Amino acid sequence: MGKRNIVGLLPQDLFSWFEERGEPAYRARQVALWLYQRGVSCFEDMTDLPVKLRRALAESFQVGELHIKERLRSQDGAEKFLLTLHDGNAVEEVLIPHRGRNTLCVSSQVGCPVGCPFCATGRTGFKRNLNFQEIVEEVWLVERERRLKVENLVFMGMGEPLLNYDHFSKALRVINAREGLRIGSRRITVSTVGVPGAIVQLGRDFKEVNLAVSLHAPDNDLRSLLVPLNRIYPLSSVLRSVREYITLTNRRVTVEYTLWQDVNDSAKDAHALARLLVEMLVHVNIIPGNQVAGSSFRPASSERIERFVRILKENRINVTVRKSRGRGIQASCGELYRIQEGKT
Ligand code: SAH
Ligand code: SF4
Repeated sequence: MGKRNIVGLLPQDLFSWFEERGEPAYRARQVALWLYQRGVSCFEDMTDLPVKLRRALAESFQVGELHIKERLRSQDGAEKFLLTLHDGNAVEEVLIPHRGRNTLCVSSQVGCPVGCPFCATGRTGFKRNLNFQEIVEEVWLVERERRLKVENLVFMGMGEPLLNYDHFSKALRVINAREGLRIGSRRITVSTVGVPGAIVQLGRDFKEVNLAVSLHAPDNDLRSLLVPLNRIYPLSSVLRSVREYITLTNRRVTVEYTLWQDVNDSAKDAHALARLLVEMLVHVNIIPGNQVAGSSFRPASSERIERFVRILKENRINVTVRKSRGRGIQASCGELYRIQEGKT
């Protein structure tokens, strides 16, 4: 039988293994401490465990199963990692140092089934969900490799996290746990294109995690063009779930709106968006579009971005414009795709 991957498991997942060997439960806690707090990747180095136990662990478990195939560093300090998975598939993640804090942008799926036409991930199609251990390992691996602590975590890499809710939420628990990676809930942001049932579930399960919803358009016709899932979950149902989420959590939600020239950046669109959001506890984050290979969507000009922002402000909508990081290494929003495919 193959060895089980231990990265992503918490002490309670290991108790039965220790119990079978007549070992006390606190040994499982020691292992978790070595793994998640001290970033050790080899049982041999867990020096406060008896040698025999270290050997037995190494016979039953492997420590991690992702590999860094390539890393690229952008001039602004952002660093992109291409990770290969056990089955040969690959995902990307981006580490963004900012004012002394490290933000990591992780993936939740290999590719994405939503297929937004402006997004590099969406254009590559969908391969599979990541399992919870793979998601945890994205964080674990970077912390260990770069010898740093990830302070902020954003699910804005490849994939739609809320279409992989079971594994995504299991990973969140481990990432957040005191005996896991200890990243505070308020420092975790989940970006979703809008899966109503899962938005409400998120509000029930994780009251303190931040939610960002990719709206991109103020009406269904336009939104269905930009976000194909809108045909299944139209704007009204997405906004209804966001309202319910706010009632459940009392948290301000971020509305992401990517601006594309002559597509969704008119004054009329800005007014319509303001009307949609005016009574809601939200903050709009304007994302200047990054044009990706094969896409005909062009980034809105700075004049049009300014006008859009001004109209929202005039209508008392809280708004900021996202600064792009990771340019030049295809690590900005929506630019994540598999490097090897980009080369062919
Ligand atoms: N699937 C989720 C999370 C990953 S995408 C979602 O769509 O929300 C994270 C953010 O990047 C989303 O707001 C998405 O709309 C945005 N994005 C995707 N492609 C982009 C591009 N080419 N330029 C700018 N933003 C993009
Ligand atoms: Fe998927 Fe998000 Fe890209 Fe749309 S923008 S294809 S939902 S990753």
